[in-house]
Amino acid sequence: MRFQCHVGHGWSWDALLTHKSDQLEAAVWAASRLFVERAILQRQIASRLQRANGDPAQAGQLDALSQIDERKSRELQEMLGELALVASEQQAGLAPARERSVAYERQLSPVSRKESSNAD
Ligand SMILES: [Zn+2]
Repeated sequence: MRFQCHVGHGWSWDALLTHKSDQLEAAVWAASRLFVERAILQRQIASRLQRANGDPAQAGQLDALSQIDERKSRELQEMLGELALVASEQQAGLAPARERSVAYERQLSPVSRKESSNAD
C-alpha cells in the first residue's frame, strides 16, 4: 500500500502515519503555546488598562479570560501526553506490520524501492 504527498514523494502507509502523528503533535504543542502567550498578553493589557483608566471591570474580565486560556493550555498539554501514549502503542503495534511491509517492498522493482526511500 503506497501513498503520495502533494509533491509526489512516495510514502509507505506506516511512514505516512508517523509523519501525520508528528504533525499533529506539533500543531497541538503550538496551540498550547499560543494559549499561554495570549494569557500573558491579556494579563499585561489588564494591568495597563487598570493603571491608565482604572476600569476594574474590564481588567477583571481580561484577567478571567487569561485564566481560561491557561486552563486550555493545560488541557492541550494533557492531550499531548495522551498522544504520546497512543503513538508508543501504535509503534508497538506497527512493528510487525512494518516488517511485513519491508518484506513486501523487497519484492517490488528497483524503481519502486528507490521511490520508497523518498521523504518530505
Ligand atoms: Zn513530499
